[in-house]
Amino acid sequence: MTVIDTDTWAESHIGYKRKDNEDRFLIKELPGLMILAVADGMGGHAGGEIAAQIVIDAFREYNFSKENLERDLKKALYNAQKKILSKMIENYDLDGMGSTATIAVLYRNKTFWIHVGDSRIYLLHNKKIKQITTDHTFIQDLIEDGTITLEQAKTHPLKDMLDQCVGCDEIQPDTGVFNLQKNDRLLLCSDGLSRHLSDLQIESILATNTVQKTCQQLIQATLKMGGTDNVTVIVKEF
Ligand code: CA
Repeated sequence: MTVIDTDTWAESHIGYKRKDNEDRFLIKELPGLMILAVADGMGGHAGGEIAAQIVIDAFREYNFSKENLERDLKKALYNAQKKILSKMIENYDLDGMGSTATIAVLYRNKTFWIHVGDSRIYLLHNKKIKQITTDHTFIQDLIEDGTITLEQAKTHPLKDMLDQCVGCDEIQPDTGVFNLQKNDRLLLCSDGLSRHLSDLQIESILATNTVQKTCQQLIQATLKMGGTDNVTVIVKEF
């Protein structure tokens, strides 16, 4: 649990089924900038936690310039990628580790973002949510070409399989920028949330209450649905 101000809150929970919490998050304020990040690690021998922490540290330590935030986000991500790959060369036990990386940098009335994996950014505007990021999963491709439905995707045997992660051989991060208006809310979350809650459920919780209560309710709703994974949420209101 972290609070930066009354407009920003984060919560993370190990869930009921996992031995460790391999989710990591970051809320960092710099003059005129705010960085929000979620990283969901994977891999045995503590590899998941290490990989997720490397992602978070790469964004915490990066010297963002404001002039070219999209470039800076990519540089920070590739720093994390290099670090994870070299750590695996140093220590064979960590081979196969990786992490998602979903980062939003808020500057003036804009959000710049970068994304690899299946953590997500949602924007709540006029009480309606929109998923900004697209999951980098094998089944996302199957959904998009109509091979399976969204409903079938929920129980598909390959639903957790990522086709991109930080630490995987090759990454092609998605990036973007969008405008924010007063009272808009941003949600960053790990898949521990989205695997249990529908967009409509997320929307109804996100559209009510303070950011702190919203985070707590999102976690509680996830646990109620079984809490099969680590779950992490960051909510920011403008
Ligand atoms: Ca997860």
